[in-house]
Amino acid sequence: MDSRPFQEIPCAFCSKPVNLGIDLCADENGKAVHEACYVQHVTSPGNPTAAIMAN
Ligand SMILES: [Zn+2]
Repeated sequence: MDSRPFQEIPCAFCSKPVNLGIDLCADENGKAVHEACYVQHVTSPGNPTAAIMAN
């Protein structure tokens, strides 16, 4: 039996493996990230994306 049902891709933010069946989310560049990491990224004060959107 295959013991590796999902390919693991490192999260663009925290570098921990993203489980494609559970955690998969993609940032604006299409990289695999954890949904929680992405939310933290877009809501963190002073991040470039939020600064652009505020303008
Ligand atoms: Zn992450």
